[in-house]
Amino acid sequence: MSPLVKLLYLLAAVLFILGLRGLSSPATARGGNRLAAIGMLIAIVATLVFGEILSFTGIVAAMIIGSIIGGIFAKTVKMTGMPQMVALLNGFGGGASALVASAEFLRYSAGNEALPLSTNISIQLGVLIGAVTFSGSLIAFGKLQELVTGRAVTYPLQKTFNAFMFLGTVALMVLLVVSPGQVTVFYALVAVALVLGVLSVVPIGGADMPVVISLLNSYSGLAAAMTGFAINNHALIISGALVGAAGLILTNIMCKAMNRSLANVLFGAFGASPQVITAGGGGADGDRTVRQVTAEDAATMLAYARSVIVVPGYGLAVAQAQHDVRKLADLIEERGGTVKYGIHPVAGRMPGHMNVLLAEANVPYDQLKDMEEINPEFERCDVVLVIGANDVVNPDARTNQSSPLYGMPILDVDKAHHVIVMKRSLNPGFAGVDNPLFYMENTSMFFGSAKDSVVKLIAAIREV
Ligand code: NDP
Repeated sequence: MSPLVKLLYLLAAVLFILGLRGLSSPATARGGNRLAAIGMLIAIVATLVFGEILSFTGIVAAMIIGSIIGGIFAKTVKMTGMPQMVALLNGFGGGASALVASAEFLRYSAGNEALPLSTNISIQLGVLIGAVTFSGSLIAFGKLQELVTGRAVTYPLQKTFNAFMFLGTVALMVLLVVSPGQVTVFYALVAVALVLGVLSVVPIGGADMPVVISLLNSYSGLAAAMTGFAINNHALIISGALVGAAGLILTNIMCKAMNRSLANVLFGAFGASPQVITAGGGGADGDRTVRQVTAEDAATMLAYARSVIVVPGYGLAVAQAQHDVRKLADLIEERGGTVKYGIHPVAGRMPGHMNVLLAEANVPYDQLKDMEEINPEFERCDVVLVIGANDVVNPDARTNQSSPLYGMPILDVDKAHHVIVMKRSLNPGFAGVDNPLFYMENTSMFFGSAKDSVVKLIAAIREV
C-alpha cells in the first residue's frame, strides 16, 4: 500500500471520529454526518484509484444499482420504519464483510498459497461474525416488518442447542487452523454461522429488536474490522472498530435506560407470551377512577401556564403529530409561557427517536432536555403534556418492586402541578403494564389519537 493511500485512509479515519463526535448533539449531528460521509468518500476513492483493480465495470454497475436502491429507501422509509431499515443495512454490512473474507480465503486456497495464521484467524472471524450478523439481521427485519412472528419463539433445550451450535463453529475454526485451506470445512463454517444467526435472534421478542439491532450493528463493525485485518486494509480496520465500539456503547445505554441486562434481553425471551391487560387498567384495583379533560379545559390550562413541559413518546411518532406539537408550543409561547421537551433515552422505539421527530418539526435544540436535566424541573412545572408516552412516565418504576419496570429511570412527570396525558385509551405501552399515573389526582386524561387531540388543542387555545 502506497504512503499516499495510507495518508488518505488516516484522513478518512480522522473524519469518521470527528463525524461521530458531531453526532453527540442534535445541533451538530447533520454536520457530523456530512464529515463522516466525506471520510467514506475519500476512503472509497483512495481504494478504487490506488488499489489493484482489474476491471471497473462490475464496481460501477454495483455502485449505480446500490445508490438507486439506497436513495429510494432513504426517501420513502417512514420514521417508525427506521429500525427495520437499520437492521437491513447492518445485515448487508455483515454479509459484505463475510463475502470479502470468503473471497480472500478462496483466493489463497485456489492458488495453493500458505495462509498465514493471523490472516487465517481474521478471515474466519470475519466470516463467522459477518454471517451471524447477516442472517440475524434479516430475522430482526422480518420481526419488525411483521413478516415473521414478533413473539419470542422458544422451545425446550433451546439454549443448550444454541450453545452446541456455537461450540460447533469453534470446532470448525480450530480444524481450519490445524489444516488450513479446506474448502468444505470453510463452507460448513459459513452454513453453521448463518444458522446460528437465525437461532440467536428467533428467541428474542420483536419489542426488544431495537437493542438487538444495535448489538448487530456492533457485530457488523467487528466483522468489517476482522475482514480489514484479513485483506490488510487500514480504513476498514479503523471504521469497523469505530462502528463496533459505538454499537456496543449504544446497546449498553439502551439496556441501562430499560433497566435490563444485555443477558436478559438476549436470553430472557421477553414477549414470549402476550400480556393480558384490561383497558380499565388491569389488576385488582379496577375501581380506580380517571379524570377526563375536554380540549377547551386543557387549552385554558395551557394558555395560562407559565411553564409547560412536553413529554413525547411512541404514540407521538405513530400519529406523526410532531408538526402540530410545534404549532401548539408556539401558541403557548405567544401567550407568555415557556415550553421545554423532556426526552427519555428510550422513548419511542429506537435511540434518538424523539430527537429526530422533533428536529423534523424544527423544534429549537435548546428546548430539548435530557432526562437528568429535566427531572428536577417537574416540581416547579405548571402543566406537563404527556403525548403518546407511557412506560417512560410510569411511577411504578420508582416505587413498585413487583413491577417489571422497577428500577428503570423515568421522567418524574407525576411531580408536576398538573399532568395531561394524551393517548387513545388506558391501554399499556411496550412493557405491557398498567400505569398508576393515569389515576393520580393531578392527572387528566385527554383521550384520542395524538394528532387529532393536538389539532383540537390548537383550535381551542386560539379561542381562549
Ligand atoms: P410506550 O410504548 O410505553 O407507550 C406508547 C403509548 O402510545 C401507548 O400506551 C399507546 O396508548 C400510545 N399510542 C399509540 N398510538 C397512539 C396514537 N396514535 N395517538 C396517541 N397515543 C398513541 O412508549 P414510550 O415512548 O413511553 O416508551 C417506550 C417503550 O419502548 C419503553 O418501554 C422502552 O423500554 C421500549 N423500547 C424502546 C426502545 C428505544 O430505543 N427507544 C428500544 C426497545 C424498547 P393507546 O393505545 O392507549 O393510544
